[in-house]
Amino acid sequence: MSKVVERFLEYVKFDTKSDETSNTVPSTEKQKKLGLRLVEELQEIGLENVSMDDNGYVMGELPANCNDDIPTIGFIAHMDTAPDMSGENVNPQIVENYDGGDIILNKEKNIVLSPNDFPDLKDYIGKTLITTDGTTLLGADDKAGIAEIVTAVERIKSNPEIKHGKIMVGFTPDEEVGRGADHFDVEKFGADFAYTMDGGFIGELQFENFNAAGAKVTIKGRNVHPGSAKNKMVNSTFIANKFINELPEKDRPENTEGYEGFYHLISFNGSVEESTLTYIIREHDSKKYEEMMKFMKSLEEKYNAQYGEGTVKIEIKEQYKNMKEKIEPVMHIVDNAKKAMEEVGVEPKILPVRGGTDGARLSFMGLPTPNIFTGGHNFHGKYEYIPTHSMEKAVDVIVKIIDIYSQK
Ligand SMILES: [Zn+2]
Repeated sequence: MSKVVERFLEYVKFDTKSDETSNTVPSTEKQKKLGLRLVEELQEIGLENVSMDDNGYVMGELPANCNDDIPTIGFIAHMDTAPDMSGENVNPQIVENYDGGDIILNKEKNIVLSPNDFPDLKDYIGKTLITTDGTTLLGADDKAGIAEIVTAVERIKSNPEIKHGKIMVGFTPDEEVGRGADHFDVEKFGADFAYTMDGGFIGELQFENFNAAGAKVTIKGRNVHPGSAKNKMVNSTFIANKFINELPEKDRPENTEGYEGFYHLISFNGSVEESTLTYIIREHDSKKYEEMMKFMKSLEEKYNAQYGEGTVKIEIKEQYKNMKEKIEPVMHIVDNAKKAMEEVGVEPKILPVRGGTDGARLSFMGLPTPNIFTGGHNFHGKYEYIPTHSMEKAVDVIVKIIDIYSQK
């Protein structure tokens, strides 16, 4: 078994589920248990200034082994797993020489990982896959990323003939609850740029994500006894219904892909007296994104003109932004990641993230951070799996990026 796989199988045994309802940092104390283990491991490998701070952020440094003027490169992954599903007692199953057929995850509960549902499986015939036992998630998101980074720095450290600049590694808590960048000390980290190892299938490389906002629409009605309601009652749910249909049907998540943005109605709570609609707005293109927010906001005026001042109130809050504008000025970090993949025999697939990443937040905090594949599939659920080959390639990609930068 290769080192990266061995590490991965150890890390998934730590239950590190984060919790969005918690106000503590990290959101769950148990994430620090993995943190402590990683501190120990980085020290064993011989990294310097290894620490975990009170917030659960682990950092370590591999000093340069030559005097050339080489940028400091960071590699980042997150320790927590998604709150969507249990990460306790993860019991990984190893499927060797995969034959392209159904994989029975759990006989008792009849849980099957099938290429009929997940056609990507067909790409891995003959490879070794790691799956769940059907009762938990796997945690490849993002323990595969951690295992890949640790294994790569170990390889660099034990092969002194590979010349390199200063390398920083960082492991964060709470990415899955959107707080992974909140307490990341960019200054202490001290890298010129970084990569999150937090993508999906082999070859994935991402430096664009959504611009994102949340909107809360409150609609007031007027309730009176239905028997004497004529010309008096205003039912807010009917106004809400009309409002929903003002937003183009083609701009819904279920009708969009690639670079297309959307208005997504997350929830609708309504009674005669008051209705609230909760939306998220997502769009890659900054101009279109501004227009979408403006359009939604314009409905407030339109409805208030029709139904009376104060009937509709729309509050829009920006959540995160497309990192593209922070990456483009240092595009060599994407170009070299692409080159590194090609040099180790991985076909790069540059795709926009249809969501946000911690790298996006970090990019706006002064640390440009695109995202590289871990190799995993079907994150956040019981069908999560990862081919060992993809993890091994991710290690190669990290080592190659470091190598490319030391050759300049
Ligand atoms: Zn992740």
